[in-house]
Amino acid sequence: MVKIWQLSANEVVEKVSAGGLKAEEVVQEFLERIEEVDSLVNAFITVAAEQAFRQAREIDRQIAKGKREGRLLGVPVAVKDNICTEGVRTTCASKMLEGYVPPYDATVVERIRHEGGIIIGKTNLDEFAMGSSTETGYFGSVRNPWNLEFVAGGSSGGSAVAIATGEVALALGSDTGGSIRCPASFCAVVGLKPTYGLVSRYGLVAYANSLEQIGPFARNVADCALLLSVIAGRDGRDSTCISNACDYTRFTQADVIEDLRIGFVRELLGEGVDVQVTSATKECARVLEKLGAECGDISLPSLEHALAAYYLIAMSEASSNLAKYDGVRYGYGYGAPERGHWSDVFAERRQAGFGPEVKRRIILGTFALSAGYWGRYYLKALKIRTLIRRDFQQAFQRFDALVGPTMPILPFKLGEKVEDPLSLYMCDVHTVPINMYGGPAISIPCGFARGLPIGIQIIGKLFDEETVLQIASALERELGIYRRLPITPTTGSEGP
Ligand code: GLN
Repeated sequence: MVKIWQLSANEVVEKVSAGGLKAEEVVQEFLERIEEVDSLVNAFITVAAEQAFRQAREIDRQIAKGKREGRLLGVPVAVKDNICTEGVRTTCASKMLEGYVPPYDATVVERIRHEGGIIIGKTNLDEFAMGSSTETGYFGSVRNPWNLEFVAGGSSGGSAVAIATGEVALALGSDTGGSIRCPASFCAVVGLKPTYGLVSRYGLVAYANSLEQIGPFARNVADCALLLSVIAGRDGRDSTCISNACDYTRFTQADVIEDLRIGFVRELLGEGVDVQVTSATKECARVLEKLGAECGDISLPSLEHALAAYYLIAMSEASSNLAKYDGVRYGYGYGAPERGHWSDVFAERRQAGFGPEVKRRIILGTFALSAGYWGRYYLKALKIRTLIRRDFQQAFQRFDALVGPTMPILPFKLGEKVEDPLSLYMCDVHTVPINMYGGPAISIPCGFARGLPIGIQIIGKLFDEETVLQIASALERELGIYRRLPITPTTGSEGP
């Protein structure tokens, strides 16, 4: 018999809305699942059981009175722990935010609750979302459920793993340079970075504002579209959020991709890409052609400079954003007696509160913005960003969507790259160009090698989530990979 935690989000909504299942039962079962597997994978920082039960009972009461509808009715949702939740601590996996409980909900969280979704907990990440492996956080590393000795990808590793193990059916992540797509690829789940300006960032703890978006994780494309429909759309509290909402679920129902022109990006299949990843991508091209799409290849020469420019921009913005953590007004150090000069107090508490990766970025970003240097580094990076945008715009004159592997490599072993920041940064080479450009990109599972998942990335024109979802859903139907999820996290290297 199918267990409740094995249902898709769409199925849960259907059953709860029809009265065949109580929201409380759904919450109960997902909490049991978390209890069963989370000690193995460490996906959650906080489980908000009491609050979730309260919300579920309230929903059940309203349903009984015939007064409650909602697009996410009764579905437990996990939220990356850099997104504010009223009354539930939000840590960014940093000691710096120790004890911080936001007095308000992020817009995305508010919208989820409004549609009857239930926030079940907060998921693990790299400290302040800086990383690609979910190993730099204060609450320990997240493990890949396909093989517990491997990383889950990052920085939204907790959200991706919670989906892969069935701890939740829906989750939120944030993607500044790949943080949704990388762990989606490494864990064989679906993850979408929306177009910059489609989803409100109000209540997202900022890392690099000009690059990041909140986006959905799910086990299949239809569920992903459902959560996107709920969180997307204009918000007066974020002036960069400019687009109207739309119902994205219909694009996963009529997923005819005949005559779509799809470009395979040459730079994403070049040197350094694992041979297994390349062959899985080529297989996708074959499948897309079989489905009637017209596939070709295209070069975007500026991508060569994307990684260096991204890290300059991201670190510059981070150094400025993180200046507000002074260890006095909230989080770590709040309420502690201050002795000595204020600048010594700030220095001492920032020294103790931030981990090594965050410090590295604050120092590099401050340097890149400093007088006499910003023109040489930051300004140059902005110019490269313009070239990247131009290359994408040109490519989209020829193609309706672009495709390439999400990650150049397979998941690697825990601890393997943590001492070598440059090799970790290199992992983002396929994902960061899309943040520099700003358009939407989804990662869906497309195969396995050595028992570990491979993901493919579909990139769209600005605000053309429609085409991205159509292609993803057609490909998913043909490949059917999402059905092979690890029921219980595996300890060996057997894989699916
Ligand atoms: N790995 C990238 C970085 O460390 C992206 C992180 C993210 O998207 N939040 O900057």
